[in-house]
Amino acid sequence: MLTRVLIVAVVALGLGGVSVAQPVAVPPPVTLFQNVRIFDGKGDTVSGPSNVLVRGNLIERISAASIAPEPSYTVIDGGGRTLMPGLIDMHWHTMMVRPTPVALLMGDVGHLNLVAGAEASATLMRGFTTVRDVGGPAFGLKRAIDEGTIAGPRIFPSGAIISVTSGHGDFRQPFELPRTVGKPQSRGELLGAAMIADSPDEVRVRVREQLMLGASQIKLTAGGGVASPHSPLDATTFTEAELRAAVEAAENWGTYVTVHAYTSESIRRAIAAGVKCIEHGHLMDEPTAKLIADNGIWLSMQAFPDELAETFPPGSFERAKATEVFAGTDATYRLARKYKIKTAWGTDILFSPQLAPRHGELLTKLVQWYTPAETLVMATGTNAQLLALSGKRSPYPGRLGVVEEGALADLLLVDGDPIANIKLIEDPARNFVVIMKDGRIHKNLLP
Ligand SMILES: [Zn+2]
Repeated sequence: MLTRVLIVAVVALGLGGVSVAQPVAVPPPVTLFQNVRIFDGKGDTVSGPSNVLVRGNLIERISAASIAPEPSYTVIDGGGRTLMPGLIDMHWHTMMVRPTPVALLMGDVGHLNLVAGAEASATLMRGFTTVRDVGGPAFGLKRAIDEGTIAGPRIFPSGAIISVTSGHGDFRQPFELPRTVGKPQSRGELLGAAMIADSPDEVRVRVREQLMLGASQIKLTAGGGVASPHSPLDATTFTEAELRAAVEAAENWGTYVTVHAYTSESIRRAIAAGVKCIEHGHLMDEPTAKLIADNGIWLSMQAFPDELAETFPPGSFERAKATEVFAGTDATYRLARKYKIKTAWGTDILFSPQLAPRHGELLTKLVQWYTPAETLVMATGTNAQLLALSGKRSPYPGRLGVVEEGALADLLLVDGDPIANIKLIEDPARNFVVIMKDGRIHKNLLP
C-alpha cells in the first residue's frame, strides 16, 4: 500500500525518468559471436572455428555450423579470435586493493566505498569477471554491482575476516585493550572488515552475523599473517574447538569455511576441525601437503610478487614476515603439483594500486610451475569448482568459469590464442577486445 502511494506521488509530481510501475516484458538481449575459437576453461586446446549464441545471461548454443542472426541480435565477428571464460581471482579483498592500511582504518567510509567501486570497474576491465572476496566489508559494493549501478565483477563475499585477539585481522592499537567480550568496538569491527572472536560461542555469533549479511563462505585466520601488526607468522591462533564452531555454523547454512594459514600446524588444526579450504600454505611441509591431498582439501594459492613486500616499510615487522612467506612460494607450488592438490589461484593484492594494473601478470607467473593451458584452466574452470562449494549460498546460481551451453555468459574475446601466447593476458586493455559479464557487453573494441 505504501508503495502504491509512493508511485502515485511520483507520477503526480511528474518525476519523469523514474520507472516504477507497469513492468513491460522486454526480451533478453542476444549476442552472437561468429567465427571464434573457444578455450572452454577445461581443456588444453582451442577449438576450431565456432559460433556462440548468448541469450540473456546464459550461453545458449555453441555450434561449428553457422547460426543465423535475427535483426535484434548484437553480432560480433570474432575473426578467428579466441573466446574464453572470464578470469576468476579466488583471493581478493575488494575494499582493500587501493587504500593504504592507515586510510582503511582511519578514512571516511563513503570515500573508501567509492575508491573500491572505481577499482571494481577496473578489475572487470582487466578481464576478471568474478572475485572471491576473502575478507572485508564488500556487501554494499557487491549490491551496487549486481544492481548495475556500477560495473564490476561478481563478488563472492566472506564479509568480515574473523580473527582471535592479536591474530591476523586484529588491527587494534594497544590502547584499545581490554575489550568487552561480545561487543564490537574497534574501527575494523565497526567497518565490518575484521571481527574478533575468542571462544567457540563468540565465533558462532560472528560467523552467523556474516551469513546473515549474505556471506557465500566464511573466512577465519588460523595462523599469523604478514599485514597484521601483532601476529607472529609461527602463531597458531584459533583452537580446534573454535574452528569447529565456525565450521558447524557455516555447514548448517550450507556453505564452508576457508582459513588463512601459512604453517603446517595451523593447516593441520584447520583440517582436523573440518575446514574445506586453505588460503596460502606458503610455509607448509611435505607431510602436510600430503594430508591436504588425502583429505581432498582445496589449496587457494598465490604467487606473491616481491613488490608486494614493498607495501611495508623497510625494517618493519610486516616486511620481514613478507620476505619469509614469499620465499615459500616455489616449494609450495612444487608440493601442490607433486601431490595433485586441488589448487585454486588468486592474488591477494592488498594496499597496492600500483600492482593492481598488473593483475594478469600475477597469473602468467604460474608458468614457472604449470603449462599455459593448466594456468588458464586454474584461473577459470578450476577456480569455479571451488566457488561451487558455496552451494545454494552462491549469489550467482549457474555454472561459471567455462564456455559451454547453459553456463553463465562471462566471456572474454582475446586477440590471439592465449594458450599459445599466455602473455596476451598481461595486456588486457589491448588484447581483451570484448569483455562480457552476465551476458552484458562491458567492452567492445570491434567495429
Ligand atoms: Zn588475503
